[in-house]
Amino acid sequence: MTSMSLSWTMLVLLSTCSRVTSFTAFPHNSINSNANAIASAKTRSSPRSSYGKCARFYGALNGHSESQNIVLDDNTVHTNINDSSNTNTSSNIKPIHVPWLIVGGGIHGVHIAARLLGSEGKGAGINPDDLCIIDGNQHLLQMWKSRTANTGMKYLRSSAGYHLDIEENSLRRMRHLTVGEQNGEQEVSNTSSVEVKTRKGRKRRKMNKHKANKTKMGTKASQEQIFSNDYERPRLDIFNQHCDAVIEKYELDRLHRQGFVTAIDPCGSDDHVRLEVTMASSDNGTGTGTGTSSEENANKVVYTAEHIVLALGNDDPSYAEWVNKEDIESGLVRHLLDDVHFTSSSSSGFGFTDSKSSRDDNHSTIKTKTKTVIVGGGISAVHKALELANASKSTGNTSSPSQEIHLISRHPLREQQFDTHQDWMMDKAAAKRSLDGGGFGVPKRQRQFSQSSCFKERRQIIANQRVPGTVTPAVNRGEHGLRYAIENGHIQWHQAEILEKKILLLEEHQKTCPHEDSRDCNTCMELSLSNGEKIEVDEILLATGFGKKPPGGKIIEEDLIRNAGLKVSEFCGYPIVDENLCWHPRIFVAGALAELELGPSARNIAGARLAAERILEAASTQ
Ligand SMILES: Cc1cc2nc3c(=O)[nH]c(=O)nc-3n(C[C@H](O)[C@H](O)[C@H](O)COP(=O)(O)OP(=O)(O)OC[C@H]3O[C@@H](n4cnc5c(N)ncnc54)[C@H](O)[C@@H]3O)c2cc1C
Repeated sequence: MTSMSLSWTMLVLLSTCSRVTSFTAFPHNSINSNANAIASAKTRSSPRSSYGKCARFYGALNGHSESQNIVLDDNTVHTNINDSSNTNTSSNIKPIHVPWLIVGGGIHGVHIAARLLGSEGKGAGINPDDLCIIDGNQHLLQMWKSRTANTGMKYLRSSAGYHLDIEENSLRRMRHLTVGEQNGEQEVSNTSSVEVKTRKGRKRRKMNKHKANKTKMGTKASQEQIFSNDYERPRLDIFNQHCDAVIEKYELDRLHRQGFVTAIDPCGSDDHVRLEVTMASSDNGTGTGTGTSSEENANKVVYTAEHIVLALGNDDPSYAEWVNKEDIESGLVRHLLDDVHFTSSSSSGFGFTDSKSSRDDNHSTIKTKTKTVIVGGGISAVHKALELANASKSTGNTSSPSQEIHLISRHPLREQQFDTHQDWMMDKAAAKRSLDGGGFGVPKRQRQFSQSSCFKERRQIIANQRVPGTVTPAVNRGEHGLRYAIENGHIQWHQAEILEKKILLLEEHQKTCPHEDSRDCNTCMELSLSNGEKIEVDEILLATGFGKKPPGGKIIEEDLIRNAGLKVSEFCGYPIVDENLCWHPRIFVAGALAELELGPSARNIAGARLAAERILEAASTQ
């Protein structure tokens, strides 16, 4: 079907199918999560109910036995930041100066901030008042929390050594929380001091782990342990509590300014980088919360910084060609990674906006019966399918013909424990420990990668070593894994490409609808698959990952590559940086932007740790 006839069908549908017109309208016009971050943040409530809750875990982070209540003052102003006097054009806005500025308050930005602030002994010695984190979202880690919640994952894929605090065993100490403490009901119990990694110590830790799971968490805990039995992977809620505790420990909320960086100028040989930031209306950049949003351009603020770190995340979520703007605006097609399509619910934290129930409010005779298609063959798609299947099982609706969950992947299931080999995750500190203990130090893979001066070759290594669309053995063959859900008919698996999506006219569909009462049916799309199948569906959830471009859009492509002439690989367009992730004497990069230097684990939590270590090294020598 051509795009013209498709939009015509859509128009007809909108005028004839009243159910569609009553779908939730989403607050965005384009498929771009970053650009909408401020707008969406305004419509979303806090992912963290209170600061007090994570203070309970502060003790666990520090190995202290008692919890500490930290009173944060959100209105504290950076002591060395000048007041901004906002006027209409950015050129005559008086800049706010800050020595260190991190753009992006996700996993990478938060960990790098913690390292810069918390590693005084190592020579960085950065004062909290000398650091600012600018992120478009209302809360630090908002993208991470909403995306992981959207997939329905219970455990992380990575193991307990990868987290946002500095000390390697920090997250492992969460094992000592009781069930009550996990729910924020009690004080943190005594935590044992970190054991030395001897063979005896390992055995003792293993025994402690089982004892802790058994005695402290009881029956519920044996179902949902804090760490998985395979590879000690943390439960998502525990990992997030630990993240919150890190934020609290370093008072990073106080350093966060909600704004979107729209322009970066390295300013030639000047002693600073200049950034233009569109602040959320409540934040004028100084933390005093007195932004004058009524004036034109009033929420535009200029920062100058001696050093900036770009921790911008990934490219935008990737959409197939058959998805159009109307599908997204109507809520028929949603991307699990596109934060814009989801809002928080007060009871369960982040989750789906329940567009179906809003439809039902207006059509009380139409019961919610869902035929959901999940598109993707990776771990996020499988997590989501299993979550829906389990929810369906627990409501006892599996026998209903309209409770259908389809998983469509263009490739067969590929099992792999981690995104990439663990050799890529070893940081310099761990390599030194390995050498000291008689091991090999920096793994061969990493050495060969950094010895290659050909960035095309580096990109090829990354592509070979980081295979997208894989699932862990536990998710596939574990107790409640995908394989069994397919065997039991709870999930229908299709290995195929989607060739076409057709919007169905409701009245026409009801004439041929196989359901006893066609009014029970919400079916409004038909998918044609490359294996010849046709599936009628109510909603489509995409778990198709991110695009392949470098993140950042205009500030990277135009400001830093085209205008400032910073070096990128001709082959893939990603930054060419030095060993300390320095792209320019004042500009560091992390995450995807640091991939050509850090290798295949750059985007992961392990990559955040690798990046922080290297940036800290540079900071320590300045
Ligand atoms: C569902 C899911 C599960 C994952 N599970 C694991 C796992 O188990 N283990 C693991 O190691 N990794 C995992 N990852 C991969 C990785 O750890 C995450 O993608 C991580 O969130 C990346 O962090 P980040 O800081 O680079 O990006 P993000 O979390 O996306 O943060 C970037 C931030 O920068 C902000 N930003 C961007 N541009 C601007 C701008 N111009 N101005 C202001 N702010 C800006 C964004 O708003 C955003 O808040 C997972 C990823 C996903 C999606």
